[in-house]
Amino acid sequence: MQKSISALTKPLIICGPCSAENASQVDTIAQYVAGLGVEWFRAGLWKPRTRPSSFEGVGTEGLVWLKNVKEKYHLKVCTEVATSKHVELCLQAGMDAVWIGARTSANPFSIEDIAESLRGIDNISVLVKNPMIPDLKLWLGALERIEKQSKCKLIAVHRGFSLADNSPYRQSPLWKIAFQLKQERKDLPLICDPSHIAGDSLLVKSLAQEAANIGFDGLMIETHCNPSQALTDAKQQLNKDQLEDLLTCLHFPNKQSTANKKLLSLREQLNQTDKNILAALQERMELSKSIAQVKIEENMSVFQADRWQEVLNKVVTLGKEKGLDEHFVKEIYDNIHQESIKVQNIIINKSKK
Ligand code: PEP
Ligand code: MN
Repeated sequence: MQKSISALTKPLIICGPCSAENASQVDTIAQYVAGLGVEWFRAGLWKPRTRPSSFEGVGTEGLVWLKNVKEKYHLKVCTEVATSKHVELCLQAGMDAVWIGARTSANPFSIEDIAESLRGIDNISVLVKNPMIPDLKLWLGALERIEKQSKCKLIAVHRGFSLADNSPYRQSPLWKIAFQLKQERKDLPLICDPSHIAGDSLLVKSLAQEAANIGFDGLMIETHCNPSQALTDAKQQLNKDQLEDLLTCLHFPNKQSTANKKLLSLREQLNQTDKNILAALQERMELSKSIAQVKIEENMSVFQADRWQEVLNKVVTLGKEKGLDEHFVKEIYDNIHQESIKVQNIIINKSKK
């Protein structure tokens, strides 16, 4: 039976604690997560911690708790893997998915090791979080290394980037990088992890909605039955009520709706029009450069007031005929003219040397 996350027809929502701490904590959280209609459960077993003295996860023991969650609540289960050994154990335990964390996805050797252990596997999904540093190629590379070896369903997870100043969040969202990934890999679902971006339970809800609004395919959210006592990421985990509130209010725009399809088609046309505008600007700039050569030969000054007034009058009149606002057209042409003068001056100054 194909267990992997198939083509996403609805948002993929994954909820669960940062770390599995004990059997009863996992069971309690899984029960309310399932009760809220969520289909996927997460819990970290091997925790990548900054300092060695911190809680580093319960390890292999927790796999049994996740198996129980699967059987008892019919939730699909996933955990983080950082080595081939972790993958091997997860495959044996029948996990539905594994995720590769931000510290691991930054290391091509680790990814290669994990990819190797997934060779030929197709019945598990693999979620790849962005690396801590804002390096799109590293993230793309991690996805590529996995797909070179296995047929697993791949999902990219945006969890923010570690910069010097992330305020007000724990990690900087840098949405632009997520958009670039989406652009490069239109074939892959991209979900957002607002918990690790926010670092604060009070900021998770608005980030989650923002992610939904801007086209993410789902969310991974940390939740804990008693967040203040959580052994990891205590500040950012939602309690049951906060999770219920978030999920109740959450709205994902329907990508299949007629309005959305119309929007997509219009945006495609807009992109084409932008290309035409840029091509016309380039053509204009080339003509301007040729004019600079004539000005050199004729020893003319770059700025010709009469000519500029003539151009402006022409474009404003033409613009009006086309229903364009006079002020708008003047602003655009002012900028074009300034750029043209700048380029001509550079050419003329060079010719004097
Ligand atoms: C986690 O999901 O608990 C985790 C450690 O995430 P990240 O790798 O994004 O820090
Ligand atoms: Mn966490």
